[in-house]
Amino acid sequence: MSHRHFKGGRLIVASHNAGKVYEISSLLAPFSTEIISAGDLGLPEPEETGTTFVANAELKALAAARAANAVALADDSGLAVAALNGAPGIYSARWAGPEKDFDMAMRKIEAEIGHATDNSAKFVCALTLAWPDGHCESFEGTVSGTLTFPQRGDKGFGYDPIFIPDSFDITFAEMSPAKKHSLSHRADAFSKLVAACFA
Ligand code: IMP
Repeated sequence: MSHRHFKGGRLIVASHNAGKVYEISSLLAPFSTEIISAGDLGLPEPEETGTTFVANAELKALAAARAANAVALADDSGLAVAALNGAPGIYSARWAGPEKDFDMAMRKIEAEIGHATDNSAKFVCALTLAWPDGHCESFEGTVSGTLTFPQRGDKGFGYDPIFIPDSFDITFAEMSPAKKHSLSHRADAFSKLVAACFA
C-alpha cells in the first residue's frame, strides 16, 4: 500500500494536552521538523464525536490541517481495561471530568473493576497525519500491561500511575520519560507512521 509522505517543514501538533505535545515533540526530534501546537496557534478543540480512536484522531487532525492550512498530526488515545469491556477507552479523558481529575478517574476504575480477577489493560494510540486537502494517513499502536492499585509514581500523566507494562514491575509513572517513550502505545503508532510517511 502506498502512503503519502510528509515533505518536511512546519507540522501542527493538533493537541492542547501539554503531556502529549511533549511526547510527540520528542518522538519527532530526529526529523528536524518545525513543530507548532494547536494550542499555540489558538485553534479551537473540535468535539470528539467519533466512536473509535482512529475516527477521533482523524477529525482532530483534519480540523487543524484545514484551519492552519498546513499538515497536522493528531493523536487519540486512552486506556482500555479488559474487565470493563474496553472502558474507559475513547472516553479516557472524559472520565476525568472538566477538572481533568485523574486521581478521581483512577479511583473510578478501581471501584468499577471491583473483585474482577482479570486486571489486564492496554493503552491504545491512534495517530493521524492530515493534509489541508483532506487526505489522512492513520496508524494504531498499543502497549499491554496490568493495572495496580493504589497509584504508584509521580512521572508521566493521566493513567500512568496505575499501569504496569508487560515485562516490567514498575508503573509508567515510576519510569523515566525516555523509557516510557521507548515502549509506549504512542511510540508503537509512531514507528508505523514514520515507516510509512517519513521514511
Ligand atoms: P484524548 O486522546 O485527548 O481523548 O485523551 C486521551 C486520554 O487518555 C488522556 O487524557 C489520558 O488520560 C489517557 N492517556 C492517553 N495516553 C496516556 C499515557 O501515555 N499515559 C497515561 N494516560 C494516557
